[in-house]
Amino acid sequence: MAKITLNKNNFFNNLDIIARFTKTKDKIALVLKDNAYGHGLLEMAGMAQEYGVKKAVVQHCEEAKRIERFFDYILVLAEIPHAKSEKIRYTINDLHSIAKFPHATLVELKVDTGMHRNGIAMRELKEAFAKIKEQGLVLEGVFTHHRSADELSSEWFWQTDNFKKVKQEAKELAEEFGFGKLRFHSSNSAALFRNTDFSEDMARVGIAAYGCMELPHAISVEGFKPVLSLYAQKISSRKLKKGDCVGYGGTYEAHQDCVVGNFDFGYGDGFLRICSNNYKTPHARQLVGRISMDNSSFLCEDEEILIFDDALQVAKVAQTISYEVLTSLKPYIKREII
Ligand SMILES: *Cc1c(COP(=O)(O)O)cnc(C)c1O
Repeated sequence: MAKITLNKNNFFNNLDIIARFTKTKDKIALVLKDNAYGHGLLEMAGMAQEYGVKKAVVQHCEEAKRIERFFDYILVLAEIPHAKSEKIRYTINDLHSIAKFPHATLVELKVDTGMHRNGIAMRELKEAFAKIKEQGLVLEGVFTHHRSADELSSEWFWQTDNFKKVKQEAKELAEEFGFGKLRFHSSNSAALFRNTDFSEDMARVGIAAYGCMELPHAISVEGFKPVLSLYAQKISSRKLKKGDCVGYGGTYEAHQDCVVGNFDFGYGDGFLRICSNNYKTPHARQLVGRISMDNSSFLCEDEEILIFDDALQVAKVAQTISYEVLTSLKPYIKREII
């Protein structure tokens, strides 16, 4: 069976760097959505707790329930709950959804400051506060998300200005409607590192914690180390004669007599099929032929191979981002903390 190893030292190293920017561990909200970016929800939650992370962010209620015992605070980004919870906060993404939240639910309001994906419009702020009050919800926070924090452009600055205005207005509205002190946050990984003097209440950090962040040179931060490595086991091997072809469609033709090993990691397990015929492992084992559902073939005689130890390298070949490489990894692959 293919196997994932999770390097605890590397994870803690990444959290150390993040904590330098947030200035305290208490302001790290670790994003654990999508099975902790493919790393394994419970494995990462357990290690985060050991490090002293107290906050987590997930997409759905079900994920939040599974990690409730590890954290003091969990933010659900995109699901309306059936009942309120002590630890779990739920996001309001749309003005019309407010009426669907159960009475007394702890909520945070997402505001659209320019990404135009989720969140209420800036001009709807007062109406949202009134509706939240009317529904009897407990508003604890107001947040936004940057659309281009990882690009060198002016967009970062106008979105930051927009959120400044939102914060000011929200503070006034909180007093007017009798809500307590609000929590404000706007930073994902890239945005956190653009702050020279971080002063928000928390940062929602995903990819940096997993050590697979790629930023333009001018705004990059050194020292992150990938947490996840993926290994595959040999199922079988064979000697090929010059001219023999490998796999579906016979798309790889042996240039000379060689040995091809076939390993138990295919696109059904999360190996992006676009890498077919076009990938070399960190130990220079060449992938040959098409990746199939549960198999991929390499020019080598090893019993076990390291497929990757840095998702960014696979992402480059697949012309995608590390996030997609990682979240493609199926939950049933065995995870081991080292
Ligand atoms: C996924 C997500 C994050 C984390 O982003 P990274 O780039 O992985 O740090 C933060 N906030 C929201 C709303 C998200 O959806």
